[in-house]
Amino acid sequence: MEAKDLMEKAVRFHGHICPGLAIGVLVAKYVLEHGYDYSPNEELVAIVENDNCSVDALQAILGTTFGKGNLVHKDYGKNNYFFYDRRTEKGIRLAIKSGKFNNKKLSRDEKIQLLLKSKPEDVFKIYEIEYNPPGLAQVELSVPCEICGELTMNSRLMTYNGAEMCIPCYKITRG
Ligand SMILES: [Zn+2]
Ligand SMILES: [Zn+2]
Repeated sequence: MEAKDLMEKAVRFHGHICPGLAIGVLVAKYVLEHGYDYSPNEELVAIVENDNCSVDALQAILGTTFGKGNLVHKDYGKNNYFFYDRRTEKGIRLAIKSGKFNNKKLSRDEKIQLLLKSKPEDVFKIYEIEYNPPGLAQVELSVPCEICGELTMNSRLMTYNGAEMCIPCYKITRG
């Protein structure tokens, strides 16, 4: 698919057109052209070090989604993207390098156009990485928090003063 078509697909999911989305489209396009496929299940896992607009392009185009658990967010504030393919056991990393599209003189639309016709190699440092994916998403039992009573995933319960409680209750109780 052309960058333009991928962008359209991403915009339908994301809601608006923006330079961040164009960055994600460029990432997704590169990944699709280098032996990785759209992921209906958890074949592909994406680890992203930001939660900006670009990530929605990955969700729309690669099927690495928050809900399926094959999208992992690390809150590092960097436009870095890691992908692991569980079938081929390969990994790849794209890390943005400050580029021409960062030019403040460019309008928003000019940035988008420039990004979409850029070569990914000009926008990102791209490496093959060792295959080291996170574990598969687990379906977990939920149990009621002893304070608010709301069902909470077992692994997220905190113990405080002998009571098992959800994280918001833990924060309030602990003060
Ligand atoms: Zn956006
Ligand atoms: Zn609670």
